[in-house]
Amino acid sequence: MPRADLVLLHAPSVYDFRQESILYGPVSDLVPSTPVFEMYPIGLTTIAEYLERHGLRVRIVNLAVRMLNSDRFDPEKLIKGLRPAAFGIDLHWMPHAHGAIEIARLCKKYHPDIPVMFGGFSATYYHQDLIARPEVDYVVRGDSTEEPVLQLMQHLTHRPGAPALADIPNLTWRSADGAAQVNDITYSPPNLDHVLIDYSYVVKAVARYRDLASFVPFKGWLGYPITAALSVRGCTHNCRTCGGSALSFHALHARRRPAYRAPETLAQDIRSIARFSRGPVFILGDIRQPGEDYARRFLEAIHGYQGPVIIELFDAASQEFIRRVADAMPNWTLEISLESHSEEVRAAFGRPYKNGPIEDTMRYALDAGVQRLDVFFMIGLPRQDYGSVMDTIDYCEHLMRDLDSGPGHRLIPFISPLAPFMDPGSPVFEHPERYGYRLFARTLEEHRQALVQPSWKYVLNYETEWMNRDQIVDSTYEAGLRLNRLKAHYGLVEAGQAQRTEARIQQARRLIAQVDDILSIQDPERRAKLLRAIKPQVDSANLSTVCEKTELNVPLPGGRLNLPSVAYFFIQQGVKRWLPSLRSDEVTS
Ligand code: SF4
Repeated sequence: MPRADLVLLHAPSVYDFRQESILYGPVSDLVPSTPVFEMYPIGLTTIAEYLERHGLRVRIVNLAVRMLNSDRFDPEKLIKGLRPAAFGIDLHWMPHAHGAIEIARLCKKYHPDIPVMFGGFSATYYHQDLIARPEVDYVVRGDSTEEPVLQLMQHLTHRPGAPALADIPNLTWRSADGAAQVNDITYSPPNLDHVLIDYSYVVKAVARYRDLASFVPFKGWLGYPITAALSVRGCTHNCRTCGGSALSFHALHARRRPAYRAPETLAQDIRSIARFSRGPVFILGDIRQPGEDYARRFLEAIHGYQGPVIIELFDAASQEFIRRVADAMPNWTLEISLESHSEEVRAAFGRPYKNGPIEDTMRYALDAGVQRLDVFFMIGLPRQDYGSVMDTIDYCEHLMRDLDSGPGHRLIPFISPLAPFMDPGSPVFEHPERYGYRLFARTLEEHRQALVQPSWKYVLNYETEWMNRDQIVDSTYEAGLRLNRLKAHYGLVEAGQAQRTEARIQQARRLIAQVDDILSIQDPERRAKLLRAIKPQVDSANLSTVCEKTELNVPLPGGRLNLPSVAYFFIQQGVKRWLPSLRSDEVTS
């Protein structure tokens, strides 16, 4: 098997999640991942593809998904057997603060001479903390690290003309005397023309390394192969808790304006993905963000595409725009994050649009034949108290009853807590008191410690003036319970599923109370023993807590992967062994 120059490792949230008893709560109900957050960031594939285009060999190993799929899988053994020129580990989201560092430790344990680099939004924020750790050699900062990682790899593999460390943009490193050196962020491309987001790299690499199991993006992906198309890095908005806001991008990544993918290229990405997958393509970013002309050009370029596409809107849209979307992509799903029914709360969060225009937008979408309309609400917002969360559930009933009264039930509301962490670099994280927040964890180490607390109440890194952690947890379960009953009443979920969801919420509530009782015990050994004893119940309450995860899935008639195309690629690479496994939902070896 060819040796990779760079192995990119994706860690589970908590490294030893298979041993620890942690009630994660509904932290991942509304994302494809489990609470282990096994889905790797899209940046891993863009970095890998960029390096391959420049003559280096890159392998992605999703350790998190492999650990999830098999209790027998031994990550230490796998790491021990690898001999790349360098390891790369993503620390994009803070929930990986524990697992990412433990994986770096294992790399150093077995390969003390192989450099370990970190990258991602959170790694950028905590680059000084990371470089001070013995298991980290480099941190590549910024929102677009394809070129800096290439230069670093050229340096590490002694390519002719490779730059010196001091000349590599965005790099944090250690000089010979051990002192941290911080190069400026001077690589911040104005657009996304330099990346290729069609996943053909992944298909080729699976064949080359004879390793389908390590490339799977999340558990269950083969049964529901949703992929992302990237319209933008950066944002024009400033939602108060978002580490991807305009202010955060400026402060962290020296980005003054968003970098957009050319609209015609974005359309081409989607068509290219469809060569391999019949699953939905989620377009990240509101296509109107760069302006009306961008949206018009994209819709012209994608016109006639029949596959499932999910788009998101950051605020209200005109009827004319909605009609053009429906005309261009008839198999479309719309996602809108209202956050709260309350205009006051929404404005305090940084989204000052009104209910009237956004309800009109939803009506336009339903009239125009949208396949699904997912509406998201959040708990833990500024100016939001317990009563306000319950009022949001009443508002959900209004939406289900009054906006989507026809057959088919296409408007589906969801609610979840802002958890487990407030994003470092977000306005609230930087100025908590200004927005009415109190933070429990600020440093990287504090977040690492928080992640191994036995229930999500203690993992939460914040509370607000309007709700403490107990109230955030209570309102989450109560809201989940009420919304679940309403969905059953209006026929959005069938009775059996609603009963199972209700039972899980009740079980999670009991477990939260049980963990509280256990934590009040003084003897640490007895505490640990009792926590271990409830692990089976905790594990069974950790998936789909306040709603069934599959409620988010767009129905996929027919096949899921485009097997003839995938097979063609594999056969080109001389590998046929995995073709049968593509027909099953999980790959475990
Ligand atoms: S949450 Fe707000 S600031 Fe963050 S990416 Fe979305 S629209 Fe932009």
